[in-house]
Amino acid sequence: MEVFESIKSLQQSLSAIGQNLTIGLVPTMGALHEGHLSIVRKAQGETDRVIVSIFVNPTQFDKKEDLVNYPNTLDADLEVLKSIGCDYVFTPNIQEVYQGKTRSESFDFKGLDQVMEGKFRTGHFDGVATIVKKLFNITKPDKAYFGEKDFQQLLIIKKMVALEFIPIDIVSVGIYREDDGLAMSSRNTRLSQEQRLAAPEIYQTLLKSKKLFQNGDLAKVKSFVKNEFIQNTELNLEYYEIADSETLKSAKEILADRKYRAFIAVFADKVRLIDNIALN
Ligand code: AMP
Repeated sequence: MEVFESIKSLQQSLSAIGQNLTIGLVPTMGALHEGHLSIVRKAQGETDRVIVSIFVNPTQFDKKEDLVNYPNTLDADLEVLKSIGCDYVFTPNIQEVYQGKTRSESFDFKGLDQVMEGKFRTGHFDGVATIVKKLFNITKPDKAYFGEKDFQQLLIIKKMVALEFIPIDIVSVGIYREDDGLAMSSRNTRLSQEQRLAAPEIYQTLLKSKKLFQNGDLAKVKSFVKNEFIQNTELNLEYYEIADSETLKSAKEILADRKYRAFIAVFADKVRLIDNIALN
């Protein structure tokens, strides 16, 4: 496994890869867990060489505190990537990527960024798309892999490559969960023991809401979820939304030919956790 901090040295090494071999890119912010590794494994199964990028992107954080407290476990990350046979790791610093201009580009995501994560985290998706576009330009992969854990982000990236005519296949990977159902996240390490014990309620509530959704009463589903969290002393609900899986528009009624998903964001004190589930 080769590890690069500079764009130039990474590109030099990538240029030695044969033209007939395919490259898969897995962008991450590090503090790797099994969820990330499941993505790397999928990329390894589908492409000849896999690059994992590890970069905590400042422009996608709306709260400085979240950025400052973002876990950094670089040595352990490199060790585990090596152990699963990753080919290349790209770990640039901010200067290398932003060249002194740590600002987001502005994108028109046709409304995909106006709801949920985009509504509650100002500028978040412009920051995400800015760094992903840079990583695409730097590494020029054939395929790039993103987790459904960040389902809205996945749609935003698909929109970005369509708008910018970027010839890269965007591949989605299902949500990887702990045994108790909690979606794996780098932020889980910041949970206290009590918060960690309470956190599986997020997925449990999503599952219950999926069941209730079958009755077709959206208002009832939403008020059920609200109530579940009012009774929970460790977790505060930020939003629960039922949205169209393609447009992310909030569902007003259930149409037989559309797919819907439930999305949730919850605070355990200052730690923000998100999850989602397909409803039909
Ligand atoms: P992050 O390091 O949190 O920016 O995540 C890097 C990539 O891993 C993103 O595409 C995430 O959606 C994905 N990811 C994070 N956690 C999970 C998980 N539990 N299951 C599947 N994908 C995940």
